[in-house]
Amino acid sequence: MYFSKLFIPILKNNPSEAKIKSHQLMLRTGMIKQSSAGIYSWLPLGFKIMKKIEKIVREEQDKIGVQEMLMPTIQSSDIWKESGRYEDYGEEMLRIKDRQNREMLYGPTNEELITEIFRSSIKSYKSLPQLLYHIQWKFRDELRPRFGVMRCREFYMKDAYSFDLNDDEANFSYNKFFLAYLRTFKRLKLSAIPMAADTGPIGGNLSHEFIIIAETGESKIYADKRIFNVKHDAVNLDKQSLHNLRNEYENYYAVTDEKFNKKKFDENVSSENKLETKGIEVGHIFYFGDKYSKPLQASVDYNGKKEFVKMGSYGVGVSRLVGAIIEAKYDEKNEIMNWPISIAPYHCAILPLLNKNDKSNLVKANKICEILKSKKIDTIIDDTEDGLTSKMKKFNLLGVPYQIILGKNTDDKLLEFNIVGKETKSLDISQISKIINTDNIN
Ligand code: ATP
Ligand code: MG
Repeated sequence: MYFSKLFIPILKNNPSEAKIKSHQLMLRTGMIKQSSAGIYSWLPLGFKIMKKIEKIVREEQDKIGVQEMLMPTIQSSDIWKESGRYEDYGEEMLRIKDRQNREMLYGPTNEELITEIFRSSIKSYKSLPQLLYHIQWKFRDELRPRFGVMRCREFYMKDAYSFDLNDDEANFSYNKFFLAYLRTFKRLKLSAIPMAADTGPIGGNLSHEFIIIAETGESKIYADKRIFNVKHDAVNLDKQSLHNLRNEYENYYAVTDEKFNKKKFDENVSSENKLETKGIEVGHIFYFGDKYSKPLQASVDYNGKKEFVKMGSYGVGVSRLVGAIIEAKYDEKNEIMNWPISIAPYHCAILPLLNKNDKSNLVKANKICEILKSKKIDTIIDDTEDGLTSKMKKFNLLGVPYQIILGKNTDDKLLEFNIVGKETKSLDISQISKIINTDNIN
């Protein structure tokens, strides 16, 4: 793939309207383009990265047995009137009228719609539990959309919903998502802390926010640093193991400002373990029992008795994660966008020195590209006539983690291989592909 043929409109400088790094860089590297306040087009580079994040989010949902489906963005107001949230949701809800004058809305979340779908099909407790998810655009008419994709009005979310017979089973479902979220964020190379949280307009009384640490985050956080030592890699998906895992996390104080209690913080956390900083919410899980199933009459038959199902909902901000990962990982000093390889826009860039009269490096680049492609390494060639330093800078900025540099008198066998932000080595192509391929491309 030639860089010159791609639609990656890079700007020379950071746009002045953007206040935080991720917003600046996403505009600068042509990942997104604003179309109106808080509403963005995702250009090819940004879209490619977001799709890779989505894939990881999806795989981790599938692993805990959640079934994927797709609900529409536009919903009828009827079900929201049944739940009582049509009035409560207030001005954040975008309300629309169709040509028959019916009240519609652009979904800010899907508890009502999924409950309506559930109640019309599931009648017996024997069909429980049901775990369902979709990945779909949401609209919330935020009072102050800002920071690019971090707080926008139209955004891409994975939202899942669980239906269980009783509190105990519902807790089990909740804990499965708890683990799936830890695994998801770990694969994205983020250390996300689960924090006891308020439930806001979703409701209920059990809830955790998953927060990553970043100076530009909107939430103030207070935590016990030892929470970072809790391990989840070897945890099984059975009730007891998941219960223990959550307990282990909950042993450590970790809350956002909404739940902060100074006395408790001082009592529970020694001064050297205190972490007081800012964070970005990337996921949020809720357990709310029959808050929706009761008003919407979603029940199952349990030995002749009508039981309202116990529900939870589980969100990940897929589009917000693109910005959040930049905030957490950007190398300011060297201007490197440090995407983990699994979501980097390309795995490797070949940067040949070219001029009008001598295209021999382009022939070499094509050959190398073919070899890397055969090893499933997604490779891009910078076929422009820019100098090598400027090509390297450009690909550092775009966050391509490996570069092969073809300078003036390149050896046919040994190539200059740059592991971005770390070191440069002379290696042959098979050594290079081995290094890239052991870096967990998928
Ligand atoms: P926040 O507290 O940041 O407003 P929320 O608690 O209202 O978020 P949830 O309803 O929990 O959000 O939504 C699930 C996830 O969707 C959040 O964890 C976040 O990652 C993402 N999200 C929510 N609102 C926005 C937004 N305006 N722009 C981008 N992502 C968002
Ligand atoms: Mg939230």
